[in-house]
Amino acid sequence: MRILIVEDDAILADGVTRALRQAGYAIDQVDSGTAADQALSDSVHDLVILDLGLPELDGFEVLRRLRGRDSRVPVLILTARDAVEDRVTGLDLGADDYLTKPFDLPELEARIRALIRRGQCGTGTTLVVGALQYDTVGRRVLIGGQPVDLSARELGVLETLLLRAGRVVSKEQIVEQLCDWGEEVGINAIEVYVHRVRKKLEPSGISIRTVRGLGYLLDKPHAA
Ligand code: CA
Repeated sequence: MRILIVEDDAILADGVTRALRQAGYAIDQVDSGTAADQALSDSVHDLVILDLGLPELDGFEVLRRLRGRDSRVPVLILTARDAVEDRVTGLDLGADDYLTKPFDLPELEARIRALIRRGQCGTGTTLVVGALQYDTVGRRVLIGGQPVDLSARELGVLETLLLRAGRVVSKEQIVEQLCDWGEEVGINAIEVYVHRVRKKLEPSGISIRTVRGLGYLLDKPHAA
């Protein structure tokens, strides 16, 4: 789960980045509208936290361009502007949520979880594949009701496959989901993580299929 933070207040951006990394998200940060526009044209992010008052392009223009490219990535506007007309403009331009500063981190995190949930199948918070349950809020994996011990990277790999269940996911896509700009994970490491996750999933009878030359496939779950 990779989030782009667009914010020119460095202290605020760093605080939010730290909290969200702790919550297990991969975070990228940009501090201008132009940099945001550029970062978003790569479509690697699952969610965008967007300030409105930005250097170069303002947040509305970033959003207008993003939706103009037909991107459906969830956007949460986070701004000090609390006027009704700004909220209306933001939502009409295609923002999914609008939160005003000052805000509490737990509320921001809850809104992020809600947006991510909405983008998944159904409205439940648990994805189920056979004996495997994935709690998307607590980010916990259970097999037959028993918690499965996964490292942060292993969980990231499994989450990426679960959220795209029924579709082939390339190793490059997994790398994009695991890493933000500050770190790198090699393609070979993905094979190692997938191997470990497979072993841990063995008791559930769920398999991650290798699709030669393309990537990996996990069968589609249904919402609980
Ligand atoms: Ca600003």
